[in-house]
Amino acid sequence: MAKPPLSTNELTEIIVGIHRLARNLWWTWNQEAQEIFHELSPRCWQNLYHSAVAVLREVSDYELRVRLQDHDFAERVREVLRAFDAYLNDRNTWGRQNAQVLQKSPVAYFSAEFGFHETLPIAAGGLGILAGDHAKSASDLDLGFVGISLFYREGYFQQTINPDNWQTELYTLLNPRNLPIEPVLDAKGEPLVCVVEVAMSQVYFQAWRVNVGRCPVYLLDSNRPENEQRYRDLTLRVYGGDSTTRIMQEILLGVGGVRLLRELGVQPSVFHMNEGHAAFLTLELIREKLASGKSFAEASASTKAECIFTTHTPVEAGHDRFSSDLVSYALIKMQGLLKLTLPELMALGQVEVGSETEPLCMTVLALKLSRAANGVSELHGQVSRSMWQSLFPGKSVDQVPIGHITNGIHLLGWMKGPVRRHWKRRLGPDWENDVNSHEFWARMADPEFISDEEIWALRFRLRRELIEFSRRRLLLQGQRLTQGDFIAFDQLLNPDALTIGFARRFATYKRAPLIFQQFENIAKLVADRQRPVQFVYAGKAHPRDDEGKRFIQHIIHLSKHTELKGYLVFIDNYDVHVARQMVSGCDVWLNNPRRPLEASGTSGQKTGCHGCLNLSILDGWWREGYDGTNGFAIGADSHPDSVEEQDRLDSEDLYRVLTEEVIPCFYARDAQGIPRRWIAKIRRAMITLVPQYNTWRMVQDYTQKYYLTR
Ligand SMILES: *Cc1c(COP(=O)(O)O)cnc(C)c1O
Repeated sequence: MAKPPLSTNELTEIIVGIHRLARNLWWTWNQEAQEIFHELSPRCWQNLYHSAVAVLREVSDYELRVRLQDHDFAERVREVLRAFDAYLNDRNTWGRQNAQVLQKSPVAYFSAEFGFHETLPIAAGGLGILAGDHAKSASDLDLGFVGISLFYREGYFQQTINPDNWQTELYTLLNPRNLPIEPVLDAKGEPLVCVVEVAMSQVYFQAWRVNVGRCPVYLLDSNRPENEQRYRDLTLRVYGGDSTTRIMQEILLGVGGVRLLRELGVQPSVFHMNEGHAAFLTLELIREKLASGKSFAEASASTKAECIFTTHTPVEAGHDRFSSDLVSYALIKMQGLLKLTLPELMALGQVEVGSETEPLCMTVLALKLSRAANGVSELHGQVSRSMWQSLFPGKSVDQVPIGHITNGIHLLGWMKGPVRRHWKRRLGPDWENDVNSHEFWARMADPEFISDEEIWALRFRLRRELIEFSRRRLLLQGQRLTQGDFIAFDQLLNPDALTIGFARRFATYKRAPLIFQQFENIAKLVADRQRPVQFVYAGKAHPRDDEGKRFIQHIIHLSKHTELKGYLVFIDNYDVHVARQMVSGCDVWLNNPRRPLEASGTSGQKTGCHGCLNLSILDGWWREGYDGTNGFAIGADSHPDSVEEQDRLDSEDLYRVLTEEVIPCFYARDAQGIPRRWIAKIRRAMITLVPQYNTWRMVQDYTQKYYLTR
């Protein structure tokens, strides 16, 4: 018997639902939702880089109506929509039980970048990814949370590599119509326009709303016809331009963000500055309080009581500093509104108050005007306390009021399809509910629950996906290979070989080429036909970082012109999508920063649920995560003062660990061909790391330690 066709009303309801779904990033962490958009137009899904919104522009509502008469498909769509609504309407949540007050007066989280998904490339690196993962977990936990950032209409650059193996940056305009964002409108249905004072001008801006599950994130956009071109271009690029652009972007972010929230009637109970870029929000909060009749002392004290601050790096260049000339130029109007002299305004961001030469440092401003501050790992907390001790005269390093909360990742957003499908088959449709818990992962100790053979099968599946992805990408990049250099792409990389991955920003302290300091030795390792090793690299250098670009050039040169050819590849245009392939497909995730400059690091946290093991310097999160059984450590829990000494010691120890521990363990196969000891390590990594280094735990920590305490 044929089933009766869906009625017009039923169809309309589903279609409205699909459109709503496409405009909520919830689908980026729901496998079944992604499969529906993929299936609607596989080609558009691929070409427009997994944009659900773009798929719905390609597929007409008429086509949707027709295709939904396929009952199977309609039922799958309905199931996803039911899960989506159940998620949005769930009242039995951690946030309602543990952070009720935030429901009415939310946390306002300000960040110059948010990395949510490859379709919205407005993040430069780990800081932005962390902000995106924070927002996703705030939604999962049902925390009162709103995010503030900027809409960069050229986003972060696309990386291409020229024939000299030199990174070149390509900027393309994002098309808002293909993105999961919608304009914030006023009562008349026109874009809501707000204004901030920048230098002697009024700069107008509108906002775009991103729905991150239950939580809104607003992206401010100064590309308004009311503005002169140079102000329209303020929000052109992530960290674009010189320090004048930078200070102006930060005024828009901090001051503009507070103004937008007030305009929307949002009254946050906490303002969380994710890195110093947002610290001008404190000036606007003080201004508001002065306008309501408070003295400057009262206004700054009550601003301080509302703000918390997370510092993210001990690297000097990571702390914005603005000269008094620039401050007096860009903030001239704000200075007047605050009724401060220039030295008084500068003093808010100076260690040595009253100094005529010390610039205004955004980190100092944030520290002075926050009730609490933290670093992003235990070691980074310590380092930050010594770095900023001089701001707290009379306090010993240990008494400096900077704590720490170690970073995490949004687990479901990073977990790859085959792993999700495994758990769903195993545990049924509700498997996601406790996926962040220790109990969930404790089961991995039990070979009755999951056998070594199953884990090994999953590893091969994931490695093959990475290798085929790499071959496809390298073929697309292939125009840069000269004729004589031609490599048969389908012979690149060996699907059975120990695969070591390295991908992150090419900031020089991360020392991407460190392992190749032992070039002769590494060349011998890759030539070993019994126990082959291969490397996959990716990462972008900052457009003005020539040393980082030289690192890229060096690695690509090695991959094309030396014995490493075919065993080392560099995948260009690193982003969230490339990251997801690599952290799942590699067997070993290499991280060799110069200690203690990797404040936390998060890419290594994305590997655990995929059975990839960390091989890392004991810096940032790995110093806490490593327990001797769950991966590999390079070097000691200490470091020499001399950088040259550290580089030499670390590169030697890296090679030692690789040859004495990693390779023998990976290739110690039993009669069935299974590396039992290796798999035991994978189990330990899953049990000890996955339930700890996620943003479900991290956002709870922020809530209990900082958001709810006054
Ligand atoms: C996770 C991630 C990062 C952060 O990597 P680290 O190793 O912590 O520096 C940077 N970029 C992208 C695209 C990521 O997904």
